[in-house]
Amino acid sequence: MMGDSLPRYCPRCAAPLSPGRPPGDRRDRLLCRACGYVYYHNPNVAVGAIPFLDGRIVLVRRAIEPGYGLWTFPGGYVEIDESVEEAAVRETREETGAEIRLERLLNVYSFPVSQVVLLVYVAQVLGGVIRPGEECLEVATFAPVEIPWRSLAFRSTEQALHDLLKY
Ligand code: ZN
Repeated sequence: MMGDSLPRYCPRCAAPLSPGRPPGDRRDRLLCRACGYVYYHNPNVAVGAIPFLDGRIVLVRRAIEPGYGLWTFPGGYVEIDESVEEAAVRETREETGAEIRLERLLNVYSFPVSQVVLLVYVAQVLGGVIRPGEECLEVATFAPVEIPWRSLAFRSTEQALHDLLKY
């Protein structure tokens, strides 16, 4: 899985990359022998928000892989020109139509080999019009006892909801 996502060519000068160990490093990287560029294969930063609306939790059912047809809270990758907080608000708006206020950081989720470090916030819905975005089949609200535990999209979805609800 990880090998498929590795670049073959230098993003700076387009020469081929090859494995090698930079001076002082502890592990091999992909190096560009032409310009000296070093490719570090690190996780990307993603952010999620668990929005509450009248005591119920807003979840989305995914219309894309991975996790097609399964439920999770709104979230996605942090863009280079925004903060994690801004990304959480934006992703929630795009996926659910809801305008939210972030209340607190619930936790940070990362797994070895995973491509992603996920920060999850607890939020309150302030307004907006709830409707599914392009990457969602539907948006629904669930009381804590109604969470569809068997139909959650990701391990991090289950862990975050578990951390929040202490189930
Ligand atoms: Zn290069």
